[in-house]
Amino acid sequence: RAVTTDMKTLTQEIEKFAQGKKIEIDTLKIQEEYRKDFLGNVSHELKTPLFTVQGYILTLLDGAMNDKKIREKYLNRANKGVERLIYIVKDLDLITKLEVGELKLEREDFNVLELIQNVFDLLEMKAAQKDIMLTFDMEYEPIYVNADREKIQQVISNLLVNSIKYGHANGTTEVSVENLIKNKVIIRVTDNGYGIPEQHIPRLFERFYRVDQSGSRNEGGSGLGLSIVKHIIEAHDEKIYVESEEGVGSEFSFTLEKAANNPA
Ligand code: ADP
Repeated sequence: RAVTTDMKTLTQEIEKFAQGKKIEIDTLKIQEEYRKDFLGNVSHELKTPLFTVQGYILTLLDGAMNDKKIREKYLNRANKGVERLIYIVKDLDLITKLEVGELKLEREDFNVLELIQNVFDLLEMKAAQKDIMLTFDMEYEPIYVNADREKIQQVISNLLVNSIKYGHANGTTEVSVENLIKNKVIIRVTDNGYGIPEQHIPRLFERFYRVDQSGSRNEGGSGLGLSIVKHIIEAHDEKIYVESEEGVGSEFSFTLEKAANNPA
């Protein structure tokens, strides 16, 4: 590199270098804050199910084991707690990978209607337990999109699970797929559940953010679902929107790119 003798240029270079370092340090500080914050939230999220499981085990050891009925009941509950822990750890693993950009998309062309039907099938039982109806609002003409199939399945699944968790008994969740301008489709998941108070909407997609609304407290969740959704959609360079009214319902929608070779 040529040595600069011009004093002004030299000063400018030094300032630029120092500025660069400052930005580096600021970034490190933010990352450090982020890590502390993240760890704090993780241990908080894991504590409740861990103590619950421990509670059942201790009660069993304390003598409840002798009664076959109680034994079965407590073991089942402990198992539910462990299942919940597994879900949380899987979500944490996924979000960490998404946040450091480690997860690469595996794009392919697939029929998005078929994917939605798959998710419906997987969640049928869960919805039925709450008397919630899952409905499709579309013609059954295949719509091919180009995206990471597995990850979009997770997006649709997270949105549907939420609509069931935060929906009233006898409610309905409707999924629709609509053509947008320029090779895009928009997928909407609309429910007539609790809805979300306006002041919470801007923070909804932050990880660990949960709306503490009456009725939703019992709904086991880690507050990671929507932040995973947002990461996946943004990794596709697509957009996600939410509209919601407390007491009326919510609509989450996102765009996807249509496959180049769509029939019709
Ligand atoms: P989790 O469901 O694990 O709490 P999410 O990130 O999926 O986490 O959602 C964050 C919060 O947004 C939830 O705690 C809930 O209060 C609110 N929410 C999400 N989806 C809906 C919905 N369809 N209707 C009402 N509230 C919702």
